[in-house]
Amino acid sequence: MNKDTIAAIATGMTPSGIGIVRVSGEDAFYIASSVFHKKNGDVITEFEDHRAYYGLIHDNETVMDEVILLVFYGPGSFTGEDTIEIQCHGGILMMQKILKLCIDRGARTAEPGEFTKRAFLNGKMDLSEAEAVMDVISSKNDLALKNSVKQMQGSLYRKITGIREKIIFEIAYIESALDDPEHYDLSGYPEELSIKLLDILRDLEVLSDSFDDGRILSEGVQTVILGKPNVGKSSLLNILAGSERAIVTEIAGTTRDTIEENLNIGGVFLHVVDTAGIRESEDIVEQIGVKKALDIAESADLIIFVIDSSEVLTGEDEEILNFIRKNEKKCVILLNKSDLGTVIGPDEIACYTDKPVIMISAKDETGIDELKKYITDEYSRGYLKYNDEIFISNIRQKEALSKAIESLLCVAKSITEKMPEDFYSIDLTAAYDFLGQIIGERIDDDVVEEIFSKFCMGK
Ligand code: GDP
Repeated sequence: MNKDTIAAIATGMTPSGIGIVRVSGEDAFYIASSVFHKKNGDVITEFEDHRAYYGLIHDNETVMDEVILLVFYGPGSFTGEDTIEIQCHGGILMMQKILKLCIDRGARTAEPGEFTKRAFLNGKMDLSEAEAVMDVISSKNDLALKNSVKQMQGSLYRKITGIREKIIFEIAYIESALDDPEHYDLSGYPEELSIKLLDILRDLEVLSDSFDDGRILSEGVQTVILGKPNVGKSSLLNILAGSERAIVTEIAGTTRDTIEENLNIGGVFLHVVDTAGIRESEDIVEQIGVKKALDIAESADLIIFVIDSSEVLTGEDEEILNFIRKNEKKCVILLNKSDLGTVIGPDEIACYTDKPVIMISAKDETGIDELKKYITDEYSRGYLKYNDEIFISNIRQKEALSKAIESLLCVAKSITEKMPEDFYSIDLTAAYDFLGQIIGERIDDDVVEEIFSKFCMGK
């Protein structure tokens, strides 16, 4: 265990009313005594736990700032160590000067995530809770925030621990039976274990399947707007974004680069890419655009395909319709420019694909509410079915879950193949360990390093 005392600016590096310099470790209170005194000049040598002190930060004789000092004794603090928080004025220079003063008195600068890492290493929280701290900080929408807060309070920890308890019970039973065959009878046990395994596997698979939902919760729905040039993609994006950020032009093919925008549609967070348009062209820049558009569409969660309904379908439209038909992805087709005389309707589209079609006019802003309703129905209520489920949102947890599932499937296979019972216990133990990785047990130091290095400074 590292005994260094660490210090960092815990608030953002932008000027603000209050800034917080946090110090954690053995020397935290010594540092507090040496840099802080009351307004009347009294130095405090014995701090009280969970108390706020009002006074001055000084560098020898020079007064630097008027502050509030918060005191938390370990192990009752966030990190589990003696901790002080200096609430100073939030100018960047002021925060940096106070941090430097703490470092001059013996602390060292904390690595990103080191406070939370210490909380984990000191047993204040499991790894899934520590990861959730980071998610809470980076959450961009209500649902993601709600899920991260739940995980921070131990929802995933409890779920995983519950499943691990069931597994360890079976391992213990098998081991006892093998050690003491006189008192434990294994006849009929494999059949019993098979049934229990099905139950556990179902639970793990639900959790593993929640990954995509969890990713959408935290990163937003990756959305791509496809359509040939001049059909109204940029106009649509402008309406959805409520701004004039995309360049709307009457010259076909002028918006060649992709435009990206983050949108919040009724609480659903969309990361939208407006592509250059798919177009058969001699023009090399356009051809790159086509490939890029299709590549982006390949990795998107949702495709919005815009067609100009005032013109007959062209080969380019058909190319996209065929791409959509062959693709399993969620897709909505918008027949734009419905304010003009329309020559294309939902019936024509139905010949190509059964994906939903909405008539819109980006000019008159008609049909937009229907589009928004489609998105919220699909992702807010219909698709995500957000209720009290637990979502996993990071790939590390997903991989550990997959390995645990694989190990349990090996147990099932051993049962089918009538292998000896000690085979079961090897794979059950592996599953138990893989699940342990999610909450931070049986995890290598370098993995811990990597996880916490993704945190921001001061957290
Ligand atoms: P993009 O190339 O697909 O991004 O298309 P733009 O959004 O740049 O639009 C091309 C042209 O079509 C512009 O002149 C828009 O004003 C016009 N436009 C877009 N949507 C509509 C619509 O619903 N009705 C009409 N009449 N014109 C539209």
